[in-house]
Amino acid sequence: TAARVLTSGMRLPPLPTIRDLVKLYKLQAMKQLSQNFLMDERLTDKIVKSAGTIDRRDIVLEVGPGPGGITRSILRRQPQRLILVEKDPRFRETLDLLKECARPLDIQVDIYHEDILRFNMDQHISDTTQRLHLIGNLPFAISTRLLINWYADLSNRRGAFRRQDTCMTLTFQKEVAERICAPLGSEQRCRLSIMSQIWTDPKLKFIIPGKAFVPKPQVDVGVVKLIPLKRPKTQLPFDLVERVMRHIFSMRQKYCRRGFSNLLPPELREEQTPELFRRADVVDTMRPFELSVDECVRLAEVYAEYIKSNPEVAHYDYRAPKTMTSSYTSL
Ligand code: SAM
Repeated sequence: TAARVLTSGMRLPPLPTIRDLVKLYKLQAMKQLSQNFLMDERLTDKIVKSAGTIDRRDIVLEVGPGPGGITRSILRRQPQRLILVEKDPRFRETLDLLKECARPLDIQVDIYHEDILRFNMDQHISDTTQRLHLIGNLPFAISTRLLINWYADLSNRRGAFRRQDTCMTLTFQKEVAERICAPLGSEQRCRLSIMSQIWTDPKLKFIIPGKAFVPKPQVDVGVVKLIPLKRPKTQLPFDLVERVMRHIFSMRQKYCRRGFSNLLPPELREEQTPELFRRADVVDTMRPFELSVDECVRLAEVYAEYIKSNPEVAHYDYRAPKTMTSSYTSL
């Protein structure tokens, strides 16, 4: 139960092990919060190491610290400030204990028992003179949703991304991690790959076998570091880009023009689709996974141009129930 000598970073004052704390406070993982805990210090150190250099100039925000395994690894790197956002208040005592440990090390630890999806970054991180790291081992469903929300923030340079150098180090179900990073032509290439690679340079750092977690999830886990691009591939609004990518990738096995054409009402499709592909300089018989990020962006750009002069098309939804009038003119 004593503090261990660490391979990276500094020593923390003596603490019970995470395993003992979980037992002591009866912190059984809750299914509805998809809780799976990491007890192995080498792995939590490795996750934090993936985030790159962390030092006294930095702020770290950890999402879902739970009993605090990754949190300890972060503290050993001695950031200036550590913000913990944990939805489950049962972890209050264990996190408070870590806060106490951090006091003599002169690390400011702020604990918020909140939902990260509602957490107000601007309010809690008013100072943007320091670099911010976002680190988390979250439930899979939340980490993908959170990532998309963060891309929206990144595209608007708001929230955690008021600075250009805020990096994210997050865990995903292995297959999702591979999709995020999937290169051109790879089988896993999908909308999430394009959305990720428009705003960031994602790197799959390593895989953690499911058996390393307690309780053990059904799947293996991938640790991904996402570095925001200095120059994102587009300046178009996030929602518009998202809409175009959703359509292009809606029919994975078909030519890419099929999904894209659904952005347009039926009466315009036949004439306008080839014209828009011509303007974007994209071959319309490629499959979606064969499109480069730049080609996807060019398709979004010609669509953006098109709806500027045809604003009634902007809200057209090919899945909306048909009415007596055309389904888009009424919008
Ligand atoms: N970081 C710990 C570890 O690696 O052992 C716990 C990981 S566990 C997979 C996910 C943690 O995220 C849980 O502690 C859970 O309560 C928390 N969590 C789940 N949804 C959350 C949300 N929306 N906002 C903040 N924390 C959340």
